[in-house]
Amino acid sequence: MAYFHKSPWIMHYDASSCNGCDIEVLACLTPLYDVERFGVINTGNPKHADILLITGSVNEQTREVVENIYHQMPEPKVVVATGICATSGGVFAECYNIQGGVDKVIPVDVYVTGCAAKPEAIIDGVVKALGILERKYEAMQALAGGVDQMIIAPAAAEDLPEILALQKIAFKSEAEIYNDFSMAPLRQSMTDIQTDFQKMVFFKAVINGKIVGSARGWLDKESGTGHVGRLVVHPYFHGRGLGHKMLLAVETALAASQRFEVFTGHKSKRNIQFFERCGYKPFRQEKVGPGTQRERLYMEKINHA
Ligand code: SF4
Repeated sequence: MAYFHKSPWIMHYDASSCNGCDIEVLACLTPLYDVERFGVINTGNPKHADILLITGSVNEQTREVVENIYHQMPEPKVVVATGICATSGGVFAECYNIQGGVDKVIPVDVYVTGCAAKPEAIIDGVVKALGILERKYEAMQALAGGVDQMIIAPAAAEDLPEILALQKIAFKSEAEIYNDFSMAPLRQSMTDIQTDFQKMVFFKAVINGKIVGSARGWLDKESGTGHVGRLVVHPYFHGRGLGHKMLLAVETALAASQRFEVFTGHKSKRNIQFFERCGYKPFRQEKVGPGTQRERLYMEKINHA
């Protein structure tokens, strides 16, 4: 653990636990288990936390809090879903106001099962989280190498957690434009993206082993339309041509299309200008649904290839 010159700080949040798991988390701090002997400190401030440990399933009330805490934590960070409720919704999964496990809202790195999760299992989960934290830090350090060595390649199933985390970082600025944090890319879970992966082509942009961009697409054979979606670039890498290269990769993979189609928010000026520079033209605008001011602007490009 060369990186950790200080103790790992953990933030614990109860997303709607029955308190069974919370009691076990507290047990970890008692003299019997005494995690502080490993230097682990429990903090109440997300800006100081390295690890977010969540108990309970996420409900309508706590969804926004979970997202807020997560986005306030500095990179690199690790999320530990503790107990079967945090993992999948558990016995509350079918309740009217339950969204599901924590990964319905934010990316999860470590799952600790059990009802309630045992202190030994929680400590084991935290130790796993430390290893992941170290690897994330090393990957970020490696990024300093630069854009010249960027590789665009088809993504693999094991890339999906990293792509999902990137998607949630990238779409945050989009959500801020409309003050709407309920948009689908921010709510997508691992299960959802795995389903997409079965049906779509996925590309990743990699610099020094770290995924800094991604795009996906699929061909509607009936209409001959190649749909391009979730084109995301890490905010540190905007304006360096990554988006254009990934768009080209998806279009090439969907070369059988007669036309390509994308959509973006109607006020998302940067996205609209980007797609216009890539040859797309707006052809339809429609409301997303009740409860949001956001409208979808559809853009198309004829495939002359
Ligand atoms: S996993 Fe069990 S103990 Fe933990 S919050 Fe859910 S119901 Fe309670």
